[in-house]
Amino acid sequence: MSTSAHSPAPTAPSPAAALREGGQVTDQLVEANSRYAKGFRDPGMDARPVLQVAIVACMDARLDLHAALGLELGDCHTIRNAGGVVTDDVIRSLTISQRALGTRSIVLIHHTGCGLESITEEFRQDLEREVGQRPVWAVEAYTDADQDVRQSMQRVRTSPFLLHNDDIRGFVFDVTTGLLREIEPTP
Ligand SMILES: [Zn+2]
Repeated sequence: MSTSAHSPAPTAPSPAAALREGGQVTDQLVEANSRYAKGFRDPGMDARPVLQVAIVACMDARLDLHAALGLELGDCHTIRNAGGVVTDDVIRSLTISQRALGTRSIVLIHHTGCGLESITEEFRQDLEREVGQRPVWAVEAYTDADQDVRQSMQRVRTSPFLLHNDDIRGFVFDVTTGLLREIEPTP
């Protein structure tokens, strides 16, 4: 199959890249970036998201937020961690997003088949046994994604630091169909 007209023609790998072939994944990323930068045009945007929305989602590799939600460069803030859990650090980012960078809406996205469903808080004890120190953070494991989305919405809604809490919606993304399912908040 031919590639589209605006794709750059494939070029022979540089000697350095050839040396690293089969090596570090980061080298692949850096190579990809140099191709990306060749076609990159400064969009001339400032840092405020165009759609005034912040999205909190799991870091899961199967969740391509921009493609799944029809987002373009510059549209939103994306805040991702294991589970898409609303931790203190997520509240920190949301607070800066709203107060310094003008976002108003918050979208929370968990997904089916999350890695957090297969571990428990015992993970912390195992860590402590292994390294001799208990982590200060909770694992935030869960077994019911719907319920965890509700809890996340509640944590955002009750945060005293946020300016806007009237447009907070939560979803579970199905990694097999690509569809979002909305979760009703706790009344
Ligand atoms: Zn996940």
